[in-house]
Amino acid sequence: MTLVQAACLADALEAGYGILAQGGPAVAAVESTIGLLEQSGLFNAGRGANRQLDGVQRMDAAIMEGAHLEAGAVASIEGILHPITAARLVLEETDHVLLVGPLASRFARHFKLDRHRSTGVPRRLSYGRILARQRCSTTERYGTVGTVALDRSGTVAAGASTGGIESMLPGRVGDSPLIGCGVYADNHSGAVSMTGMGEGIIRLVIAKSICDRLAMGKSPAVAAGQVLRMLVSRIRGSAGAVVLSPDGRFAIRHVTPHMAAGWWNGIGLPTVRGEFL
Ligand code: ASP
Repeated sequence: MTLVQAACLADALEAGYGILAQGGPAVAAVESTIGLLEQSGLFNAGRGANRQLDGVQRMDAAIMEGAHLEAGAVASIEGILHPITAARLVLEETDHVLLVGPLASRFARHFKLDRHRSTGVPRRLSYGRILARQRCSTTERYGTVGTVALDRSGTVAAGASTGGIESMLPGRVGDSPLIGCGVYADNHSGAVSMTGMGEGIIRLVIAKSICDRLAMGKSPAVAAGQVLRMLVSRIRGSAGAVVLSPDGRFAIRHVTPHMAAGWWNGIGLPTVRGEFL
């Protein structure tokens, strides 16, 4: 993690906590924290989103609150600076949970969300070459941005926003917009936001699996540790989790080499580190 990224994470934590300190809802804190990171261009989300193998940025995001289990998400959205806001609009303005592709972008434009003009040029590659490139990809770098928050009313919320992974096929959707996979929040268990290789996170429904363990009385650290170890042992997956229980206990755990993350409860300065091992 660079110093600039660390400073940006600390600013985002302060912005989110500021909303909670004024009595604002956890979903607003999550949206604001993630929005700053999307805006920064320093992470794999919003302005800084990865490109798919045809050169186009297609982004995924989700947000969920734990009082009524309301959730909203967008997948494969293009040209929008804040996919997390589009996800919150799905939660608040529709009866649906997930909108995808160009019609998710159209939905966001209807609400006049800030646009993001991608600077890259779409690549004219044959599908055969795209498939070949995807097969020989070996990189494992993640940078999804995610947040969990607990507000004064005792409601938890979780969110995530991402440009996906390196070397992905056009149209690939990861775990982040899939409720229960990349994100989950329930006041009866807790809130979880994931980063890492989405395919593994989806196959083990990781966010909900961690919440189920919280509901059984495990601490955030134990719940996250057990599920992440299972991800490695069963399918050699790779991920990190931020986990918060409704009583305010939290854990940041990863089985990736690094995970830039932080936390703040309004006392002193925000804690930001590049790994939590
Ligand atoms: N989980 C994201 C995805 O698979 C990638 C990331 O965490 O950076 O789309």
